Amino acid sequence: MQYKSIQKEEWDKALEQLLSSHTIFASVGNEFGQDYELIRPADIGKITYNRPKPATSLKSLFLPVKENVTSDRASEKPRIILGAPNCDIEGLALLDEIYLDADFNDPYYRHRRENTLLISSDCFGIQEHCHCLSYEIKPYSSGIADLSVISHEDKIIFRIISGKGEALLKSLQCEISVPDENILRSVEKKSHDTEELLRKANHLPDYSKTGKLVSGSGEDVWAKYSAKCVSCGACTTICPTCTCFLLIDKPGFEKVKQMDTCQYPGFERVAGGEDGLFELHHRFRNRYMCKYVWKPQKFSSRACTGCGRCIEACIGKINKNEIFRELAGNV
Ligand code: SF4
Ligand code: SF4
Ligand code: SF4
Repeated sequence: MQYKSIQKEEWDKALEQLLSSHTIFASVGNEFGQDYELIRPADIGKITYNRPKPATSLKSLFLPVKENVTSDRASEKPRIILGAPNCDIEGLALLDEIYLDADFNDPYYRHRRENTLLISSDCFGIQEHCHCLSYEIKPYSSGIADLSVISHEDKIIFRIISGKGEALLKSLQCEISVPDENILRSVEKKSHDTEELLRKANHLPDYSKTGKLVSGSGEDVWAKYSAKCVSCGACTTICPTCTCFLLIDKPGFEKVKQMDTCQYPGFERVAGGEDGLFELHHRFRNRYMCKYVWKPQKFSSRACTGCGRCIEACIGKINKNEIFRELAGNV
């Protein structure tokens, strides 16, 4: 893997120049946490590097909650998204398999993907519910994104992942050098330390074993854990890999695509009134079957990347990992 280095001061100036030709979203922090924000020149100094993880998932920048799919998007500026953690980048791999499918191509999603340069951010440190490594997802990116960014003292280091990323660096009017071995060793150590933190924080069954535990479990488990669920849909809305949507016809031949969730009552109701997911605990179980049993049968990318957002967002304080620990017998 190739690495390049730019002085942080020069990188900030380069970002300011890029704003004249690109729309830039980046992870911005404040005292409450951090989230993806649309960047203006005054925000460049507030961009956070290598901190896990924005409150919203990267999905929202590719699949808005609601959009008119009969509108024209051709005039949009190219986009740069800076600071996505690898759990979000890996989530995008599943969205690509679904929305870029040759037979069911979504031109709006494709346009955004092709029009976006992705700069991921290595995570140095973890948050309480991060568990990417339990599902063999590393806390740094070496594929799918175009570049990966590491802030080191007064320098910004880039791991070059794609030709598109390399071309962006070449186009910048700043001095670019190769980082010395000591810097790269320090980056490697930080990644190693983060992996150790993830290992210590999580004693979970791996992804395929989780699927077997979920499909082999009885109804009582789902009834017990769904007792505190209020069907709000926060867990699926915030999830980087949930993909369900509705198409709604509007007056004037407009069509609106709106994100949907299996946690809402009526998700599976058909015109005749039948509803396979009428019972709350059946809807609750559906999310687990979808992520750990059905999606792995159809797609090669993970349908849970271990970001932990569904646990943080749940109003009923339901922790999916406690279910897996109970099912695995290590409670
Ligand atoms: S069925 Fe549920 S869990 Fe699966 S993608 Fe749709 S909303 Fe997410
Ligand atoms: S199921 Fe939860 S932990 Fe897994 S990717 Fe979705 S939000 Fe993250
Ligand atoms: S976030 Fe919690 S309460 Fe809301 S639908 Fe998901 S499991 Fe139920």
